Amino acid sequence: MEKIKVGVLGSTGMVGQNYLCLLENHPWFEVSYVAASPQSAGKKYEQAVEKRWHMQNDIPSSIKELVVGDANSLERALNECSFVFSALEMDKEKIKKLESRYAKHIPVVSNASAHRWTNDVPMLIPEINPEHLDIIKEQQKKHKFKGFIVVKPNCTLQSYTIPVGALIKSGYEVNKLVVTTMQALSGAGYPGVSSLDIIDNIVPYISGEEEKNEQEPLKIFGKIEDRKIVPKRIDISCHCNRVPVVDGHTACVSLQFGNKMPELEEIIQIWNNFKSVPQELELPTAPKQPIVYRAEIDRPQPIKDRDIERGMVVSVGRLRECNIFDIRFVALSHNTIRGAAGGAILTAELLYAKGYLK
Ligand code: NAP
Repeated sequence: MEKIKVGVLGSTGMVGQNYLCLLENHPWFEVSYVAASPQSAGKKYEQAVEKRWHMQNDIPSSIKELVVGDANSLERALNECSFVFSALEMDKEKIKKLESRYAKHIPVVSNASAHRWTNDVPMLIPEINPEHLDIIKEQQKKHKFKGFIVVKPNCTLQSYTIPVGALIKSGYEVNKLVVTTMQALSGAGYPGVSSLDIIDNIVPYISGEEEKNEQEPLKIFGKIEDRKIVPKRIDISCHCNRVPVVDGHTACVSLQFGNKMPELEEIIQIWNNFKSVPQELELPTAPKQPIVYRAEIDRPQPIKDRDIERGMVVSVGRLRECNIFDIRFVALSHNTIRGAAGGAILTAELLYAKGYLK
């Protein structure tokens, strides 16, 4: 099979580097174009990331010699690839305009938050709301796009929206969530949080994260009605903290059900047995078991659980009754893999399997 040529915008950053590693030897996609800011443009990739390559693997040999393009200019991208992953970090309004310019011609799968609240742009967790891809045809019609935009939600909320989504898909109503996050340093990009601010410390504030965690799940759990995605009503209260962990965002969650509460044993069964469209389609990046319940009293832990099934699994543990709501539990997912590049690659695989990428 001839592989689909793909570009990575923001290829020199933390998420961009993850894309390049995860796409090396991908069975369907091949990176043919890398782009970043004007400061990196014109350099060979290896030179552009000198002293700031953060991955454990070396730079893929097929990428080292590629000449980095300027992500603000479309010409090379349109000549050299069929769709792009966007991992840009710049002013939100600029990203919004730039991604729309790309979408006029080719599909964009984005990690940036710019288009998350555009109501005809699906914000996808492939296991939870794959049916939201149906809105793409409305988006294309409305904006006269030949391509389209699909976005990934915030990296933190993947840890708990997947187990909460599995409960909703099993017929249980969820009314309220209180979520306290412990977020890894890699979530802040590079150079991120200064060492003096985080070693021996916790920072109880991450700009914009609480709002994203309180709003984005509502769209993910929403329904397409009247040619737009209508958010679901759930009350969420979130506290976000930056902690001295390299990779892996953890969330402590208290949850109140709406209709009836399942037994704790049933919840564990729902989580461990949960499978969805990516598993049915056997997408290359899909974990075989998207949620793994850890019965040990002191799990999940980032260092032990973040890499299960190549960082695509959500690990859940400490399920117990809550004194105020119904249940409480701890959930963990790898922020730069499931929460960023891996989740976006899974989204692109779903798009391909459903005929949206040619
Ligand atoms: P990052 O490490 O700061 O990388 C930013 C990338 O954007 C670099 O390639 C940079 O190029 C490029 N860039 C910066 N200014 C630009 C400009 N004016 N024009 C074109 N390109 C420009 O950021 P990151 O952590 O990888 O995050 C990338 C995106 O993913 C962000 O929108 C972030 O919110 C989102 N995200 C991150 C995570 C995570 O865990 N880190 C998770 C989910 C989503 P140069 O190297 O040339 O400056």
